[in-house]
Amino acid sequence: LFITFEGPEGAGKTTIIQKLASDLEKLGVKVLLTREPGGIQISEKIRHVILDPNNTEMDARTEALLYAAARRQHLVEKVVPALNEGTIVLCDRFIDSSLAYQGYARGLGIEEVFSINQFAIQTLMPDKTLYFDIEPELGFERIGNNEGREVNRLDLENLDFHYKVREGYHILLEKFPERMITIDASKQMEQVYTQTKEIVEKLIGRLHL
Ligand code: C5P
Ligand code: MG
Repeated sequence: LFITFEGPEGAGKTTIIQKLASDLEKLGVKVLLTREPGGIQISEKIRHVILDPNNTEMDARTEALLYAAARRQHLVEKVVPALNEGTIVLCDRFIDSSLAYQGYARGLGIEEVFSINQFAIQTLMPDKTLYFDIEPELGFERIGNNEGREVNRLDLENLDFHYKVREGYHILLEKFPERMITIDASKQMEQVYTQTKEIVEKLIGRLHL
């Protein structure tokens, strides 16, 4: 079971899935929590190149290709072996981030970015994607309160860019209605967590029937 978590900045994805992974482990479920871009050495190095605030010259297609390369290596090295062992994989961002950020917000085209990603992932799409929906303004307010967070190149984009990202995700929700589920991430974190946990437990439960 391959579950991915998506959404604009400050939606609370990372915090929520860390808690989710640890609660599932306590229940004896075998889980792997990982993230994109990154998760393994080669892909963390690529992440560093992409997100370095000094790399202001990076071309949008270069960026999209680097994400796809990081994704490929992470899948082959970490995600696929875990899935083959029957581990439940929870991944903080995946292909939909590329479609929303590079495809839609950067204007490369959702279909075009999808096609380079098909080359990278072959047919391995997530079984389910939980999309954490939040107004970018509120998301940034939350980030401002999170002192431990690393500053990255995307933080330098203006708010309009992040509104476009959200719009991009909304297009994806229409495109993939069976795979994607929306969670209202503007609610209190506890409520968001409870809703997330219920959905994931149902998915796992179905697997064990
Ligand atoms: O999820 P996390 O905050 O770790 O993501 C790191 C950064 O990478 C974010 O600013 C996110 O917007 C950006 N990103 C992106 N395009 C992707 C994936 C992530 O711009 N395809
Ligand atoms: Mg995060």
